[in-house]
Amino acid sequence: MFDVDTDRTLVAAADLVNTSAGLRSATPGLDQLTTVTQLKEYLSARAPDMRWPPSGADRAQLEKVQDLREKVQRIWSAAPIESDAPVRVLNELLHGVGLRVARGSDGDYRAEPVPASKDLADVMTASVATAIQHLVVRDETARMRTCKGEGCDAVIIDLTRNRSRLFCDFGNCANRAHVRAYRARQAAQRRTFSSAPEAHVAAGTSTRHHMDAPTDTLESPRLVKPSAAEKAAQIEVPTSQSAVAAKEFRDRMRDELMEKRQKKSAKKLKKEKKAKK
Ligand SMILES: [Zn+2]
Repeated sequence: MFDVDTDRTLVAAADLVNTSAGLRSATPGLDQLTTVTQLKEYLSARAPDMRWPPSGADRAQLEKVQDLREKVQRIWSAAPIESDAPVRVLNELLHGVGLRVARGSDGDYRAEPVPASKDLADVMTASVATAIQHLVVRDETARMRTCKGEGCDAVIIDLTRNRSRLFCDFGNCANRAHVRAYRARQAAQRRTFSSAPEAHVAAGTSTRHHMDAPTDTLESPRLVKPSAAEKAAQIEVPTSQSAVAAKEFRDRMRDELMEKRQKKSAKKLKKEKKAKK
């Protein structure tokens, strides 16, 4: 969505927040960042892309990374950011972070953070804060979300072009929402069927009344109020299992294609640079 490195860092930042204790796809999860070993596991899973060396992890760095996580979580939960409080937290993280121009992993020049020190936590803080700063100054903080799944408080970073990502990857949040939406529709249909004559009469008297009526009656399926997650699911999630699979497949193919293109152009660039030497 932005550049390869920023995207990657935002994903790593969301992953960091998701190491906290909380509900993941209706399953309670423990804090995954309480020991140096766990920190090393988190870092190893992101190496070598993130250039956050697991060898730098120790007790002192763990505590600082936990603090970073807590601050990032505060910023995330305030998104979309419309007030100064989360920005102040971001500025705390940016304190002492410098800037230099360097080639990113795709070969393009870009502004790169210079951490306050070479300590692991400082290096992580510099890249995470800089990536979030991109979102803030471009008014894209709405991309920092919480999963819409019921019983799920995993954070997600939406890097899709049309801002369509609603669910995490932890369990089956998307599917569960789809099933719930499907059942709600079925129930609404049953209601229409069982109260069809009344609905007909009501529709005949005033359709406007229908639109404005705030009360939940059996007159019309229109008045069955879906929850926010259901609404989102109805809009965003295709209405059959196969359609869900097809949509996911299309999304994945598109993402893979974009990634391939980016890699290709990066390779080409490198070749050209070599040729010039
Ligand atoms: Zn979820």
